[in-house]
Amino acid sequence: MGAITGKEYIKRLNQLNNEIWYDGEKIVGPLSEHPAFKGLIQSKAALYDLQHDPKIKDEMTFISPVSGETIGLSYLQPKTKEDLIRRRKMTEHWARYSGGIMGRSPDYLNTVLTSFASSVTYLKNKENCFPHNLQTFYEYARENDLSFTHTFISPQVNRSQVYIENSVEPIAAKVIGKNDEGIIIKGARLLATQGGLTDEVLVFSVGKLLFNEDEAFAFSIPSNTKGIKFICRDTFIGGPSSFNHPLSSRFEEMDSIVVFDNVLVPWNRVFYYNNVEVSEEFPMESPFLPFAKHQVLVRQIVKTEFVLGIAELLIETINISGYQHIQEKLSEIIIGLETMKALLEKAENNAKLDEWGYMRPEIYPLLVAGNIFPKIYPRFTEIIQLIGASGMITLPTEKAFHSSIRKDLDSYLKGATKTAEERVKIFRLAWDLTMSSFGTRQTQYERYFFGDPIRLASDLYKKYPKDEYVKAIRNFLNLN
Ligand SMILES: Cc1cc2nc3c(=O)[nH]c(=O)nc-3n(C[C@H](O)[C@H](O)[C@H](O)COP(=O)(O)OP(=O)(O)OC[C@H]3O[C@@H](n4cnc5c(N)ncnc54)[C@H](O)[C@@H]3O)c2cc1C
Repeated sequence: MGAITGKEYIKRLNQLNNEIWYDGEKIVGPLSEHPAFKGLIQSKAALYDLQHDPKIKDEMTFISPVSGETIGLSYLQPKTKEDLIRRRKMTEHWARYSGGIMGRSPDYLNTVLTSFASSVTYLKNKENCFPHNLQTFYEYARENDLSFTHTFISPQVNRSQVYIENSVEPIAAKVIGKNDEGIIIKGARLLATQGGLTDEVLVFSVGKLLFNEDEAFAFSIPSNTKGIKFICRDTFIGGPSSFNHPLSSRFEEMDSIVVFDNVLVPWNRVFYYNNVEVSEEFPMESPFLPFAKHQVLVRQIVKTEFVLGIAELLIETINISGYQHIQEKLSEIIIGLETMKALLEKAENNAKLDEWGYMRPEIYPLLVAGNIFPKIYPRFTEIIQLIGASGMITLPTEKAFHSSIRKDLDSYLKGATKTAEERVKIFRLAWDLTMSSFGTRQTQYERYFFGDPIRLASDLYKKYPKDEYVKAIRNFLNLN
């Protein structure tokens, strides 16, 4: 099949007939026509079409080593630094389509699966592990350009340090049995962005599992597997108009809880199960962090450029560039942007082949970027709000501009360098990015989607090699 088009993506998704619950009702009819998903599905279709755009096709695809077909570059296992740069360009093309707003353009999870498949050898000869299944599934996904959602964490019931679930019915998804056909999973996982809107659900366990052997598993199953339910949150789409809601009307990705109601995961889809040690170590031994964080950093750079562009347009519109505090605020965004770009270059320049022959970007600059962005992104949104002031509130609708009140709007809402309509368009974009329910989710997403920032900082501290610096001080002080 090879790299799919937007049309093929939509057709396949509609045919799946996934069990999705929205506002207390089970969705019936084609997903691509539902008002809560239509905008996102069209945007994703446009991303898939970029794989066939003659101008960039070569940068979005490569030739399959097995079928000779043209397949998506997000599935490329990098073996050279040039491969890493090819991967970067592919992510940039997809990220630029939404200004980096879509956290789950298909390359994110395609990269995650690719990273796991690049370390299948680690699973060899380990208890309850099936490296062949992971390798075969990766190739199947790559050749058919499958789309993914993922659930890595359990429900937020009790996050105290030592919590052992003792409810009668499982809450966190668990292996409750196995038979000739596969393992049986019951319970829930959260939070799956685009849950129900993809071909497959990729399920891995991450973090410390303590004694919960039955929660230590990894597999992927089609989203329409019997017993899987996706329970959506409320939509953050303000409405269908791209004038009124320039971002939410197109890029609202939806998040859902995934419920496994006695779901049978066939053996050929199980990568491992009931193995706490492998569950804890495999994601860390694999190139998951370097590959996934490389994709994330590229997208976040594009998003920072988008934020900078909006901030500067606001400034131009109401002519406030002469104030020093405005300049200082913009320079904060520029410092963020240049820092992230420098970290990306360092990670790529210092990339090294791993033990399995894949080119891993250097991890420390990526971990640092992963610690910086959750802090600077909320500040970016604050900066936009501080620059925009009341302009973030005086936002008449598209309809108002086509009503008899237009003359007043044209006169009282114009900007120093813009017509009223242009001014409102720009401020509406700034508002949708930082103040609408959609914009607030964006901030929460950048804070949390790759894990709790507190624990990310702790991981960086623990991983970072410090001995050399301690030794230098000991020498300086003539200590033993
Ligand atoms: C918009 C959005 C989209 C997401 N999409 C996905 C997705 O598609 N797939 C997916 O798998 N996940 C997704 N996530 C979930 C994300 O991985 C988690 O939010 C993140 O790992 C933090 O876990 P938590 O939300 O359960 O927070 P919790 O772990 O419940 O933390 C709550 C608070 O307690 C503190 N805390 C808890 N435990 C500790 C500890 N051990 N040490 C120190 N402090 C602690 C935290 O610092 C935090 O302040 C998404 C999250 C968001 C916000």
